[in-house]
Amino acid sequence: MIPGRVFNVSKGFRGLKSSSLLPAFLSSKANFSSSRVSSSGLGINFDLSEDQVNIQQLARKFSREVILPAAPHHDKTGEYPTEIIKQAWELGLVNTHIPAAYGGLGLGVLDAGLVSEELSYGCSGIQTAIEANGLAEAPVILFGNEEQKKKYLGRMTEEPLMAGYCVTEPGAGSDVANVQTSAVKQGDSWVINGNKMWITNGGKANWYFLLARTNFDKNSTAGNSFTGFIVDADSEGITVGRKEWNMGQRASDTRGINFNNVVVKESNVLGTVGKGFKIAMGAFDTTRPLVASAAVGLAQRALDEATKYSLERHTMGKPISEHQAIAFMLADMAIGIESSRMMVYKSANLRDNGHKNTYYASIAKALASETANICAANAVQIFGGNGYNSEYPVEKLMRDAKIFMIYEGTSQIQRLIISRLLIDSYKQ
Ligand SMILES: Cc1cc2nc3c(=O)[nH]c(=O)nc-3n(C[C@H](O)[C@H](O)[C@H](O)COP(=O)(O)OP(=O)(O)OC[C@H]3O[C@@H](n4cnc5c(N)ncnc54)[C@H](O)[C@@H]3O)c2cc1C
Repeated sequence: MIPGRVFNVSKGFRGLKSSSLLPAFLSSKANFSSSRVSSSGLGINFDLSEDQVNIQQLARKFSREVILPAAPHHDKTGEYPTEIIKQAWELGLVNTHIPAAYGGLGLGVLDAGLVSEELSYGCSGIQTAIEANGLAEAPVILFGNEEQKKKYLGRMTEEPLMAGYCVTEPGAGSDVANVQTSAVKQGDSWVINGNKMWITNGGKANWYFLLARTNFDKNSTAGNSFTGFIVDADSEGITVGRKEWNMGQRASDTRGINFNNVVVKESNVLGTVGKGFKIAMGAFDTTRPLVASAAVGLAQRALDEATKYSLERHTMGKPISEHQAIAFMLADMAIGIESSRMMVYKSANLRDNGHKNTYYASIAKALASETANICAANAVQIFGGNGYNSEYPVEKLMRDAKIFMIYEGTSQIQRLIISRLLIDSYKQ
């Protein structure tokens, strides 16, 4: 039973677009900072607004009724969930950050986090496919000019299109400063050459955000060496590789992409030439709380499945939930989930209120992704032999969880960021 006000799944928030409720929804969003947060922006209020509860309930209902039952099929076949994404798009659960000026709902990071937790509960692979749009769009929202926003964000709200964030290469993942893809100016265009790897939505995207090296001076710093581009996916010279068969999140489409003399117009340069590193990394303050919230969704699913199972399964004359060893595993899962969710809310809330949140976004991402892995492994343990079998839901959770510790910066890279910021703060 889903508590609270239940939204009409056939209409959702897109349904609201044409109704008089939408302006109220948007304007109450604008009041969010004044009603929830003290003037310092750091006040504490753990209540969600009515609008937030509504969108959370909408995402929950959609996830449990549409995503969750379809998840095993997409996991087994690797088939891209085109129809599900289309339905989610119609409900307003995709591209949640696109500002109203470009046809979107302009939701905050916390609002989007509520959605991504719920979607991931049903299937984190499907949620990743949906959220990869947000990752590609974030640099455009933050650094795009009016024309770029109208063109590339606008089209995402007109039809259910996908986008991809092309930064990682075969030889450069954590080490973004080692990106080798080059962009060379020729007349009023740029010519791009190189290979990108592990690109989510790689084979489904309508356009890519791409990071390329534009300064080839060996003494140039990362902050001056790269430029961000928006690249139409149907540009001549782009070859999309095979769909990678990953450990988990198999509904998501991950591919290598080759760029061979791809011509991009000057008008598709994002922000300032040479400042792309900051643009590519800047997206993470928005998107890492969302990766963390998706990890919380998976962890919550693991806890729910494990708790239900522990009440049904009997050994030594009682439900296994009455063995303290099992009950304490459930308690540890709950401790991790509740703390991770709070870090998601904190890092998202800071961002929504205009505060620098890099430190907390990294803490949320590291904590939640590791919690998801612990919870999924505990759930498999609690299911015993059944947990190891694909007829039961938890082995998928264990496979799906691992990627949360790898993409959008590994757990080691989060610790690098956290420790640097921490130590620097003591030097001031
Ligand atoms: C399914 C999937 C989807 C992805 N989607 C995208 C996407 O949409 N767009 C995109 O651009 N990329 C994407 N990625 C790439 C992902 O972000 C990288 O894989 C990740 O950043 C790690 O980089 P790497 O694989 O090169 O590992 P490496 O950087 O080679 O790291 C190997 C190991 O060394 C550790 N390590 C590296 N450097 C340090 C250091 N300085 N200190 C301590 N430890 C270190 C790492 O933590 C890791 O454990 C995706 C990857 C996968 C698998």
